[in-house]
Amino acid sequence: MLNIALFGPPGAGKGTQSEFLLKKFNLFYISTGDLLRKEIAGKTKLGLEAQNIIASGGLVSDEIIVQIIEKTITDNPDANGFLFDGFPRTYVQAYILEGLMIKLNTSLNCLISINVDEEESVSRLLNRGKTSGRSDDNETVIRKRLVEYHEKTRPVIEFYKDRGIYFEIGGLDSIDNVTNKIIQIVQNELSKSLYNVVLFGYPGCGRGSQGKALAEKYGLEYVATGRMLEEEIEQKTEVGKKILELYENGQLVPDEIVVQLIEKKLENSKRVKGFIFKGFPRTLVQSYILDGLLKKHGTKISQLIEFEVPTLELINRLDARSKTDKRMPYDSSTSKIVKRLQEHEVKTMQVIEKYEQLHGVVKIDGMGTFEEVFERASNEVKNGMKHMR
Ligand code: AMP
Repeated sequence: MLNIALFGPPGAGKGTQSEFLLKKFNLFYISTGDLLRKEIAGKTKLGLEAQNIIASGGLVSDEIIVQIIEKTITDNPDANGFLFDGFPRTYVQAYILEGLMIKLNTSLNCLISINVDEEESVSRLLNRGKTSGRSDDNETVIRKRLVEYHEKTRPVIEFYKDRGIYFEIGGLDSIDNVTNKIIQIVQNELSKSLYNVVLFGYPGCGRGSQGKALAEKYGLEYVATGRMLEEEIEQKTEVGKKILELYENGQLVPDEIVVQLIEKKLENSKRVKGFIFKGFPRTLVQSYILDGLLKKHGTKISQLIEFEVPTLELINRLDARSKTDKRMPYDSSTSKIVKRLQEHEVKTMQVIEKYEQLHGVVKIDGMGTFEEVFERASNEVKNGMKHMR
């Protein structure tokens, strides 16, 4: 999802710029001013409450704004992203927007302020007033709106500066030049956002081979924690020696070690489009770790996929693998295979349930040839990535 907020005093050109950006990035437009005017035209309760405040140039209450904006967002769950015009207009509304974005498992990519000075605003709005039919486009009300902007709206800038997603451009340039500058900012931000997929499924469901192939096709970094641990052992690193010692004593590798390895991977993978996680998170604790690690790197889980394969087929596959040279140390006997399946049942199913409730987990039928399953998984990732941009 791509979410942009256009910011600036009344008359800065937010509405004009919106028209172009909506088409360019295929976004859903949310102008709180337009929504309020619609409520007024429809003579709704909200409209009646807002009417006099708007006519006098004041800001309507955050309570009213939350109601109209929440409804618009929840009525459009399939939107590619949102373009906000005239929102957030108060510090409280910045928090409201944060909450709404969390609900959609997304975030605001950037808040772009179009700067024009006060006299330019007044003269543009007076000009617009000749044809707009808006009762608030007259000089007394315009001046009041600008006072409100300076007192209540400008503090919002600090909120987004702190989060590193505030940008400003001069609004006195030609319309085309302002548009081009906005596009540049948006594209630059987009190139920074990562697409992160977590693959779930019982051992033997094919998530490893599918994960590797998906990573290759979509330019994502494949993060398989089991493999990463083995690499440390092979390369005889300090961590590797510790892991070997734990393995030899039949102990589990503690989460601290896995966290370090994933952090290293996130830090060293600079030019990737995102990550595919396989084999992590396996426990609820690990799921919180992954959420935290991604947050620390300014990103988050974009998509969760679970490959579904019936239990008997899993046992067949793991048993068959145990008779080939692809055999893993942990599928060398029936009891080990059953133990791994049980481990998944007990620990990892809780993680899937957690994410199911939070963002939804896409189920993919894991039966069929590798190519058939790959096509299903690939379509999901492709759609997910398209949705993000
Ligand atoms: P606009 O069309 O954005 O210029 O908004 C026109 C008027 O609607 C403003 O002067 C406010 O009275 C009201 N309004 C629009 N958006 C908001 C908002 N986010 N918070 C409070 N009042 C708003």
